Formats: sequence, C-alpha cells, structure tokens
Amino acid sequence: MPALHPKFAPATRLLWRAGVLGALEAIAEAGFLAAEVWASHIVDSRVSPRLLKTQAEQLGLKLSLHAPSYDLNPLSSNAEIRSLSRRLVLDSLETAARLEAKTVVVHPGALSSSTDDPEDYWHRLEEYVVQLDAKATHLGLTVAIEGMEKKKLQFITGMPSLERLGQLLESVGARHVGICLDIAHAGTIGDPEEFLARVPQIVHGHLSDTSEEKTHALLGEGRLDLGAIIPKLLQKLEDTNGLIAIEGRLASDEPRAIAVAAEFLRQFTS
Ligand SMILES: [Zn+2]
Repeated sequence: MPALHPKFAPATRLLWRAGVLGALEAIAEAGFLAAEVWASHIVDSRVSPRLLKTQAEQLGLKLSLHAPSYDLNPLSSNAEIRSLSRRLVLDSLETAARLEAKTVVVHPGALSSSTDDPEDYWHRLEEYVVQLDAKATHLGLTVAIEGMEKKKLQFITGMPSLERLGQLLESVGARHVGICLDIAHAGTIGDPEEFLARVPQIVHGHLSDTSEEKTHALLGEGRLDLGAIIPKLLQKLEDTNGLIAIEGRLASDEPRAIAVAAEFLRQFTS
C-alpha cells in the first residue's frame, strides 16, 4: 500500500475524545505522516508540549498547530477580550516552537456587532498582524491566517477580503505571516478553485468536503470536486513548510473520519 502524501495532516480535533496523545497515535496508525494539533486539545488533555513532541517524533509525525479560537476574538471591540484573546494566541506560538511545529493557524477575529464599522476591525487586524509577525519572526515559524466561512460577523471570508489581507501583509512588511486557505470555507462562498488561483500568499491549507447540511463534511461526502482541488492545493504548498490539515469531525463516530480520510487520500501520492 503506498504511503500517504506527507502534507496530509489530520486535525487532532477529529479525535477529541481520544485525547491529544491518543489522537496522534490513531493518525499515525492510519498511515499519515503529519498532524495538526489543536492547542486547546493539549490543554484539555493535560499533556506537556515536551511529552507531545516526543510522542510525535516516535510516531514519525510532522506537526502544525491550530491556535486557540473558540470563544476568542483578537479584534473584539472589548479591549479586555481583545487583549486576552491575543495573549492566548501569542502564547500558543511558543507552544508551537516547543513542538517544533513550523506553522501555526490563527483565526483573524470577527466583528463584535453587525452594526460596527469594518474599517475599525481592519485597523485592529493590521495591529494584530504586526504582533503576530514579530513573535513568529522571533520564534522562526510561520503564522497562517485562516480565511473563514460565510457566517454572521465574519469579515475575512470572500476574495475581496482575502486580497485585501494579502495587501495588508505586504504593506506592513510581514515576513512570517501568510494565509491559510480553508477549502470548505471557500466553498461556502464561491468556487474553491477560483480561491486557489487567486488567494495571495497561501502558506497552509485546511481541507474537508462541504455539503448543504455540514460546512465540514467528510472527504467524498460533500459536493466539492476534491479530485481537481487537492492536486492544485498540493502544488501551491510545494515550496512551503505548510501542510494540508484534514478537518470534518464526526462527533458520533470519531475514528470513522480518519478512516474515511485515509481511504480517500490514498489516490494522491507524492
Ligand atoms: Zn480554524
């Protein structure tokens, strides 16, 4: 059986109940060579980054890290929420360095209220990018800001906002911050292949299928033409440290999501 492509990295979120160490074990057992660790999974599992790093090394897994995002908003209009959110994300960059993960996925933050002026948020995003770039440069890793799904209060979603984010990264001279293209999120807005062709500075990918019922559906169980999308995404990331994190959790049967992904992805060999 051919090995899976080394860029495919299931998110440990898919195997939440196994704990982060158990999740890595199951991911390696399914034949993967990389994994995306959710920072909150490390905290929830009460595991030290050192132990986690040893476990990943023993299993032969390369890692990326997904910064904490649930309940946080680094662009919040509430200064205290904003500051706490940024601190937790910036701290996770240090965790990534301890894990020797080369890429950290960070959510861009959202509007606090739909009646707010998005320009205020663009201004805060610029300030936040400068903070992220300084820390990433210091630690020698790359931050990937994720394009979000079409949803109330999210504003980094469609092509115009991702193009503007690319310009922002250039204008502040960010050397260690790029964009994470989430294929399923793109699919909630338009054609993911158009995003692949046009989104600037793609340094990391998130991959799942998408359907009317579920934004993150299991691979092959949605409406996306993944057979066309995946080779292009692999090509985009060829010269980067970025991985393609596999998402799409099945809460009722967590191991099935990994099994389906491994089976589906075998056709894309390196
Ligand atoms: Zn995310």
